[in-house]
Amino acid sequence: MPEGPSIVILREEVAAFTGKTVERAEGNSKLDTSRLVGQTVRSFRSWGKHFLIELDDVSLRIHLLLFGSYRINERKESAPRLSLGFANGELNFYGCSVQFIEGPLDEAYDWSADVMSDAWDSRAALKKLRARPRLLACDALLDQTLFSGSGNIIKNEVLFRTRIHPLSLVGELPATKLRALVNEARTYSFDFLQWKREGTLKAHWLAHTKTTCPRCKIPFVKAKSLGRSQRRSFYCERCQKRYGDSDQVAAEQPATDA
Ligand SMILES: [Zn+2]
Repeated sequence: MPEGPSIVILREEVAAFTGKTVERAEGNSKLDTSRLVGQTVRSFRSWGKHFLIELDDVSLRIHLLLFGSYRINERKESAPRLSLGFANGELNFYGCSVQFIEGPLDEAYDWSADVMSDAWDSRAALKKLRARPRLLACDALLDQTLFSGSGNIIKNEVLFRTRIHPLSLVGELPATKLRALVNEARTYSFDFLQWKREGTLKAHWLAHTKTTCPRCKIPFVKAKSLGRSQRRSFYCERCQKRYGDSDQVAAEQPATDA
């Protein structure tokens, strides 16, 4: 699944269509795409994993989900979910979710929660985290209301870099650790963006998909589905400290409602 930094790259790649008029709109989504024809692209924006196309009187929200993809000025063999034609090229999306957003985007989105946004507010994130002390660290980093744009790669790398065990309880983290978690979520996301542009993202992974801890030289634990979010985790039992007793929380919260 593309994480926030990859959507920032998509936004940059389509910049040539800003200010252009939609001349053709089609695709196999259930939306009435005919209303898009004749509208002008006011801006391309993103909120976490949401790619947003702001038009004259409606916006499009595109979520690439697990296996979505896009092509610019070329097509895949499969039918597009959404295809937009402009005088200077075309934009095609596949296997994604497409929705209309009526009204101003500023009313629909809390930009301060987006780890890639200029409006990112680390103090607001800290406040929201403090209000949820029973949350597991691994779930916090996947919660889009806390860290919009953060995905499983960012989760594994941030927890390793801050030496926090994924099953730690947010409410048991010392204040400095909680701040480190919040700050590293943003710092690593921008490192991710730079490395993704350079094509060196994987080469910089320290924990995600790795088998050995580079600090301790002992095997990482590989958990197939950790926390309520039930996503793959790679972590070191020795140098990533577990704060609080989350076993009790696991008993309180059956995995079925994840
Ligand atoms: Zn280690």
